[in-house]
Amino acid sequence: MILSEIADIKQTPQRLAIIEYLESNKVHPSALDVYKAVSERFPTMSFATVYNTLEKLKEKGLLIELSIDTGKKRFDCDTRPHHHLICVKCREIFDVFTDFILELPEDEFHGFDIIGNHVDFYGICKKCKEIEGSDLELNKD
Ligand SMILES: [Zn+2]
Ligand SMILES: [Zn+2]
Repeated sequence: MILSEIADIKQTPQRLAIIEYLESNKVHPSALDVYKAVSERFPTMSFATVYNTLEKLKEKGLLIELSIDTGKKRFDCDTRPHHHLICVKCREIFDVFTDFILELPEDEFHGFDIIGNHVDFYGICKKCKEIEGSDLELNKD
């Protein structure tokens, strides 16, 4: 995301802080995550400001809304085509930039011209595996 691309969005210090957070935290945050982080610097900022800014950036194609997490909307500020690794324990989402050539049999096209794909991998992240491992240690006797 480049600041000049959002020239037509009114650049308030709060909005810039939201954008800065998105650019430096590639964690696919929810609106609430962004709000929690940015309101530390701007305690008077409302959740609505965060939400509206995210919606504006999304409209401009600078932010992608992810539907992976059914509980809440998550946002991705990396608009390059990529896939995701999702931890089923902590819901953390990691980026995967490998290209996958996935062949779809023609009788499954349903008249579509295929322009891309998105693959979600599910698993347990390193951090959660470590926590699980330490739990096992504690419960040994
Ligand atoms: Zn995890
Ligand atoms: Zn991503």
